[in-house]
Amino acid sequence: MLGIGKTGWIEKERPNCGPMDAICRPIAVAPCTSDIHTVWEGAIGERSDMILGHEAVGEVVEVGNLVKDFKPGDRVIIPAITPDWNSVAAQGGFAMHSGVMLGGWKFSNFKDGVFGEFFHVNDADGNLALLPDGLDPAAACMLSDMVPTGLHGSELAKVEYGDTVCVIGIGPVGLMGVAGAVLKGASHVYAVGSRPDCVKIAKEYGATDIINYKNGDIAQQILDQTNGIGVDKVIIAGGGCEILETAIKMLKPGGCIGNVNYFGDGEYLNIPRAEWGVGMGHKTIAGGLMPGGRLRMEKLASLLVTGRIDTSKLLTHRFKGFDKIEEALMLMKDKPKDLIKPVVTIDW
Ligand code: NAD
Ligand code: ZN
Repeated sequence: MLGIGKTGWIEKERPNCGPMDAICRPIAVAPCTSDIHTVWEGAIGERSDMILGHEAVGEVVEVGNLVKDFKPGDRVIIPAITPDWNSVAAQGGFAMHSGVMLGGWKFSNFKDGVFGEFFHVNDADGNLALLPDGLDPAAACMLSDMVPTGLHGSELAKVEYGDTVCVIGIGPVGLMGVAGAVLKGASHVYAVGSRPDCVKIAKEYGATDIINYKNGDIAQQILDQTNGIGVDKVIIAGGGCEILETAIKMLKPGGCIGNVNYFGDGEYLNIPRAEWGVGMGHKTIAGGLMPGGRLRMEKLASLLVTGRIDTSKLLTHRFKGFDKIEEALMLMKDKPKDLIKPVVTIDW
């Protein structure tokens, strides 16, 4: 990112490795919708000459002298969110906000990201996870962000056995939201989307009903399909600022919204007064940055190893070679109809 609205290639010094850190090089990377918010919407403000990218599987090339569990040559999953695990926020259970709100989101925000020949990972023992043998690095690259974020949607929404769940937005994050809701025991899963490829894969991940905004207001469609009652839980993984209002309208009293969507513009989010029970509807709104860290990466990787989640379905566009990263990023920006997630693998 050269500046807001501008991308290109630059040369930078190889980053230095602190005593607890690692330097890695990428072997699979993926651009994220968040990169698009960052560059083309200026959502986190001005950044100049910042290397983008926060989704990677890589190879460790150097570790600091205090790193115990990783060594050069290890193939690792790098989470998009790399908290400081010795921070007070981590002790409070919200490591993703270490230092400052959203402080665990370092790559392509506070520091250079993973679209470089070498990149820096803070707190290597706390943040890296070994890539399990046999996992395709491209499919495993979805563990950096898409799997943990989509599944966090169902955690934030507190999905329980038998819940009816609506997942708004079925890009890669929402599709993982569908998979997460199903793993947590949802009964009906209403997936809101219209692109045929996303709809097909949402059904494969376990969506029972598809809601298309082209058929009218989506909150009304959910109410119509649930005898006016609404759903127990809503996962928001797409849409603009108006989508929160929609989610509240389709939610039962006592229900919970898990938002993982990045609201990239606008000043305020609106809460509809009457549908929020004039302040007394027990409708919870929870929004969160996905938790990063090694334990979570290891656990989520085991869902791929055991076949509980097949992330290869998300990979609609595969590229080979470091110099293809730009093409993959532009694809993410332009979002052709058949795109779910592009991935770039790199042989060094
Ligand atoms: P995406 O753009 O590929 O998918 C979003 C989907 O929502 C698209 O298919 C789009 O057509 C759909 N959509 C847009 N408006 C809609 C509406 N009104 N109703 C229903 N669907 C609508 O994005 P993604 O990669 O799946 O990511 C989803 C969101 O999650 C993005 O905002 C991204 O920045 C954010 N994100 C958050 C975290 C986190 O830690 N919380 C991590 C990664 C990504
Ligand atoms: Zn991301």
